[in-house]
Amino acid sequence: MFENLSEKLERSFKLLKGQGKITEINVAETLKEVRRALLDADVNFKIAKTFTEAVKEKALGQDVLTAVKPQQMMVKIVHDELTDLMGGVSTDINIKANPSIILIAGLQGSGKTTFSGKLANLLKTKRGKKPMLVAGDVYRPAAINQLQVLGEQIGVPVFTQEGSKNPVQIAKDAIRDAKQKGCDVVIIDTAGRLAVDEEMMNEISAVKKAVDPHEILFVVDSMTGQDAVNTAKEFNDRLDFDGVVLTKLDGDTRGGAALSIRSVVNKPIKFVGTGEKMDALDVFHPSRMADRILGMGDIVSLVERAQEQFDAEEARKLQKKLQKNQFDFNDFLSQIQQIKKMGSLKDLASMIPGMGKAIKDMDFDDDAFKGIEAIIFSMTPDERANPAIINGSRRKRIAAGSGTSIQEVNRLLKQFEDTRKIMKMAGQGKNLTRALAGMQ
Ligand code: GDP
Repeated sequence: MFENLSEKLERSFKLLKGQGKITEINVAETLKEVRRALLDADVNFKIAKTFTEAVKEKALGQDVLTAVKPQQMMVKIVHDELTDLMGGVSTDINIKANPSIILIAGLQGSGKTTFSGKLANLLKTKRGKKPMLVAGDVYRPAAINQLQVLGEQIGVPVFTQEGSKNPVQIAKDAIRDAKQKGCDVVIIDTAGRLAVDEEMMNEISAVKKAVDPHEILFVVDSMTGQDAVNTAKEFNDRLDFDGVVLTKLDGDTRGGAALSIRSVVNKPIKFVGTGEKMDALDVFHPSRMADRILGMGDIVSLVERAQEQFDAEEARKLQKKLQKNQFDFNDFLSQIQQIKKMGSLKDLASMIPGMGKAIKDMDFDDDAFKGIEAIIFSMTPDERANPAIINGSRRKRIAAGSGTSIQEVNRLLKQFEDTRKIMKMAGQGKNLTRALAGMQ
């Protein structure tokens, strides 16, 4: 996610490395690069200009703090500006009413149907709601079927009216049905077109007028950059939507849409889609996104996802072990098994500070942990509990037993030691980013 932008920003900050203080000249040089990075990321020209001007003003207005290096100060200022640019704070959807009506709009292929399913899943599993999905795309029979399949997968009812070509009627009937069934959120998926056209806008405006939704979400493919921003503007002019959903962020290396959309349409980004699976949806947090863009990872989201999966009792036990530095291969193995349940590996890994760039070109597959698991399975219980005893001949045996090589076993042992060190520092309350930076 946003790897290209992260890399270029990092390079621009390097210009300040070794500089004793912020000056007009070194700020100008750095910001020229920052601006170029933003333009390459497909950020709107005007936004890039205003952004760098704001950063410049802040940077030059800073008192000279001897404790903070210019490079660090610049990263902090850019971080804060990025956060502001993306809306500052996260904004929730309005689901107070019973039933709450949510209308989903966007172009065909933007990910509307997928998002409708993901949202229903999120509201059901994390917010204790009883959602209903409504198939309002009357032109694509496949869309109705797609929604039915998703609904079945996540255990949410789907309202359809086979053969009907009247989305307004479908929406009204669906709401009536939802009330009867005791569903408290109604998510209406609508028809999209390949490009903005009058008929589509009229149709969705008619649905809006008929059902008076509590929340209109505009879904857009983040990989389309400035086009996404322009489409958002057209939809907003007609629909006055409440929030934006950026999909396919997992494939977006540039980030232009995420950075520009908020200031162009003045509506918050509320969710981001990070994969095709039903759990690949995150609530959007501007500050965490800024962390990720600046290669600081997103430990908060990582921890949150972990919390959803992890057993609190297990977590407490693990914490004790970490503090006592007793983390062993049994824990390592059970962590791997937990992580596998948490979603796309690449996505997870990129949330770890400093990892985004390192894994940019790597392919991750679901079997990525297979080798590691095989090695751990080939260890004796003693070895797992007490890795220090794994000497040369044991390494040889483990490699043979797991069908790997001694190098792979050595690498895992080294990784394990590194993890232990990081965990120990984190357990002692040290800053994880700094701990990792120190290890590089
Ligand atoms: P719609 O025409 O707007 O309803 O779009 P769909 O929901 O059918 O999505 C179009 C394609 O994008 C499908 O193949 C989805 O699996 C895919 N898709 C949707 N959201 C995401 C996402 O966040 N990440 C990725 N990688 N693919 C997505």
